[in-house]
Amino acid sequence: MSNRPDLPPEIARRRTFAIISHPDAGKTTLTEKFLLYGGAIQMAGQVRAKGEARRTRSDFMKMEQERGISVSASAMSFDYDGHRFNLVDTPGHSDFSEDTYRTLTAVDAAIMVIDGAKGVESQTRKLFEVCRLRDLPILTFCNKMDRESRDTFEIIDEIQENLAIDVAPASWPIGMGRDFIGCYDLLNDRLDLMDRADRNRVAQSIRLTGLDDPGLAQHVPAEQLAQLRDEVEMARELLPAFDPQSFLEGHLTPIWFGSAINSFGVRELMTGIRLFGPPPQPQNTAGRQVAPEEPSVSGFVFKVQANMDPKHRDRVAFVRLASGHFERGTKLTHVRTKKQMAVGNPVLFLAADRELADEAWAGDIIGIPNHGQLRIGDALTEGEALRFTGIPSFAPELLQSVRATDPMKAKHLEKALMQFAEEGAAKVFKPMIGSGFIVGVVGALQFEVLASRIELEYGIPVRFEQSQFTSARWVTGPEDRVDAFASVNKGHLAQDHDGDLVYLTRLQWDIDRIERDHPDLTLSATKEMM
Ligand code: GDP
Repeated sequence: MSNRPDLPPEIARRRTFAIISHPDAGKTTLTEKFLLYGGAIQMAGQVRAKGEARRTRSDFMKMEQERGISVSASAMSFDYDGHRFNLVDTPGHSDFSEDTYRTLTAVDAAIMVIDGAKGVESQTRKLFEVCRLRDLPILTFCNKMDRESRDTFEIIDEIQENLAIDVAPASWPIGMGRDFIGCYDLLNDRLDLMDRADRNRVAQSIRLTGLDDPGLAQHVPAEQLAQLRDEVEMARELLPAFDPQSFLEGHLTPIWFGSAINSFGVRELMTGIRLFGPPPQPQNTAGRQVAPEEPSVSGFVFKVQANMDPKHRDRVAFVRLASGHFERGTKLTHVRTKKQMAVGNPVLFLAADRELADEAWAGDIIGIPNHGQLRIGDALTEGEALRFTGIPSFAPELLQSVRATDPMKAKHLEKALMQFAEEGAAKVFKPMIGSGFIVGVVGALQFEVLASRIELEYGIPVRFEQSQFTSARWVTGPEDRVDAFASVNKGHLAQDHDGDLVYLTRLQWDIDRIERDHPDLTLSATKEMM
């Protein structure tokens, strides 16, 4: 990662990022404040998508029906201080983590939100690991400082040890819980005071010359001031100072302390993204890297959302632009099918509303309505046959067989299943022997959601049943070896919706044995979409 002052200004001012957190840490609240300061909404309370972990299945189905909302919350663009922020939403529910992983392929940086009382929680750690795989720069926001929270050093130590990343404090909290009054801004030598009376009021900032500034004592009670001075002295001795390059390389995270609900610390965080956050980065493709400033337009689909309007079967493909300046009506080549697409009605996501995009630049996310041509991993270019790499598909952790309760509808079921497979909502495997399908998902809730959607959108009542298999692995290798292997293992083999070969089993032992007996075959738990 690098900051590139030489980029064209329109590209250089873009910041495309996601927020990662454990449910309940305050992602929704923080998002809302971002939108508020970005002028995208007028008052807090307008972002309806709540932390998904608290949703019950019926909540989820209702949300599915109100898809317009969840779609516009999938990517949000707003301007802040001369910069264009593209915030890509990561679904919080662990059942939908595959979606989340893919979302992280579309961003250049991430904000990690942690709860000051809880520290690094399980979901945060998982998402952090995905960011690390991509060396994404991470900014940390320690939220809920208005509540009783852990000792500041303890929080920082936990992040350093748990996530193996250096932490550089950008601000230092003063007091805690009821006594929390604000932060000392270590990057700017400023005192930021929280307004407890009005949650939507932005903090008062007082410029100082340093911790010895006599002005401090006018605002900070003596005891807290003494503690602040001690702690900051210790922090400066023990903790690394903020280093922009180390941050961009993913080795160091700056941390801000604040309270999203009290609008405290949010602007400082936004300024951090603006100043230090990377502009759109080059993207890897099979043959070469695509630089954002290349004049011709290219991009890749990282998410597909189908049936936003059940009557029309339309879908929106979310495309991250990798290069160029896109204008509405630009003709793009759909690399997989080699067909031309006139992108006449692309959508930009401006907070709560979908808006037609007249133009977009490298780094932006646009939505392209389509009838199913666009799939996850697809490339759109001005002609070059690019294949973007690094968009993963994971082996499902739960497998069930599915059948239509009305056998007359079995044919239509295949079509419905293929659609969900293309959307990335499930893996669908067609066994080589016998009829029927095996569906694989990452979380159990997805079976229920799928059953409801197949019935709602296709009118096909279905039943999911225990499958004899529990694991799936993609099989690759030299063609003759794969064929030889297939001919004697038919009972364990299936094809996914792309026609790729998959080995199904219920024993890890089987997988180990095949890897031992067939060293020229690869059994893989992930495959690149395309
Ligand atoms: P998400 O699940 O990460 O999206 O979390 P939410 O933004 O929905 O917040 C979870 C809960 O924490 C909600 O009840 C919020 O009102 C509350 N919350 C968010 N930020 C703060 C904060 O700064 N202080 C306190 N005390 N509560 C907060």
